[in-house]
Amino acid sequence: MTAPQLPSRLETVRETILRRNPGEVEFHQAVDEVLVSLGPVLERRPDYVDASILERLAEPERQIIFRVPWVDDHGRVQVNRGFRVEFNSALGPYKGGLRFHPSVYLGIVKFLGFEQVFKNSLTGLPIGGGKGGSDFDPKGRSDGEVMRFCQSFMTELYRHIGEYTDVPAGDIGVGGREIGYLFGQYKRITNRYEAGVLTGKGLTWGGAQTRTEATGYGTVFFAEQMLAMRKAAFEGMRVVVSGSGNVAIYAAQKVEQLGGVVVAMSDSGGYVVDEDGIDIEVMKDLKEARRARISVYAEGRSSAHHVSDGSIWDVPCDVALPCATQNELPLAGAKALIRNHCRVVAEGANMPTTPDATAALQEAGVLFAPGKASNCGGVAVSALEMQQNASRDSWTFEHTEQRLRDIMSGVFGTCAMTAEEYGVSGDFVKGANIAGFVKVADAMLSLGV
Ligand code: GLU
Repeated sequence: MTAPQLPSRLETVRETILRRNPGEVEFHQAVDEVLVSLGPVLERRPDYVDASILERLAEPERQIIFRVPWVDDHGRVQVNRGFRVEFNSALGPYKGGLRFHPSVYLGIVKFLGFEQVFKNSLTGLPIGGGKGGSDFDPKGRSDGEVMRFCQSFMTELYRHIGEYTDVPAGDIGVGGREIGYLFGQYKRITNRYEAGVLTGKGLTWGGAQTRTEATGYGTVFFAEQMLAMRKAAFEGMRVVVSGSGNVAIYAAQKVEQLGGVVVAMSDSGGYVVDEDGIDIEVMKDLKEARRARISVYAEGRSSAHHVSDGSIWDVPCDVALPCATQNELPLAGAKALIRNHCRVVAEGANMPTTPDATAALQEAGVLFAPGKASNCGGVAVSALEMQQNASRDSWTFEHTEQRLRDIMSGVFGTCAMTAEEYGVSGDFVKGANIAGFVKVADAMLSLGV
């Protein structure tokens, strides 16, 4: 990765962060992306520099690493590593998901936690930032194995979390089933029905309507506002959605509801193209109920085909929504999107676009939304779930979806206005980074060292 051009004050900060966190490339990437946006802020606010706000922000308040032993279906003891990084609590309790995936190590958790601080700040809701997870791979594991793993994970985690302290939720590899097993163990150990300690719960036991859909829906609401800037709407648009997990499926569903045509989706084994528009209900059933490969979608369907090697970004589209995982949209993908006249890219995943791809898209005039702005709907509805738990209430789907819409409009407005204020109109990356940062920095100043 090439080093970004930074003013000398920021360069010194960057060197300290890189030296203190050796080898954590994803974390470095996330930090760089924020630092390149902040030059103009520090010009205006030398008090942030005097108080070492950046150095403090880049150092998590607490990092917990623990052993997770569990017994597999053959009676063998397996060992995984668990993480919870409590990054920043200036705005509220640490809030952020848990990721179960073999690629998880401290650098991934820190990149996600760092992003979460800014994202949560942008929502305007009282939540700090954190993230956690494990290198456990749920793929191919039985339900019993997943349950025993979750129970062991919570047997350590419970002592670090709480509704006023740290509130985990899902991320890749952690959905409703895992949150259920985690919550069950928390309740068993503590003998407290402390619903607000986890979000993403089932609808009959403290969960919020719209939480499952929120990240994908929110991304589409954000993209809708970007299209409106160009006097366009989703109606009739060709849309490519990478991934086929929770974020991708509900992004695709909302695109379809708004009259767009989702022409391609993917998983780790390739992508499918359906020129008639992907049938989202079929895809949902395939991925959520049957947990099958995406290639199955194309079997016996004349309008569709599966591509096992190649890039989904080669499929021509008006709107691209990267909803799979980090660094899935590289420079070559950005060039293909530009060549095919893509107009809007909104990230549903966390940091799916590489820095050079982001720069290329922006230079070519493609409207680009960073995940910390466009995918904040998930954590925003998590904060609404916490509100409902605290007041022992539950809201309707319609009401919660309207709140999500309003929050996404607010975040869009904040990013657009901040970009304008700093002379970078239309740059949602800088707008999001600056707005997210200023709010946390001001709170940190108020709270003292
Ligand atoms: N994992 C989601 C994210 O990346 C949601 C976190 C939450 O709901 O706390 O924002």
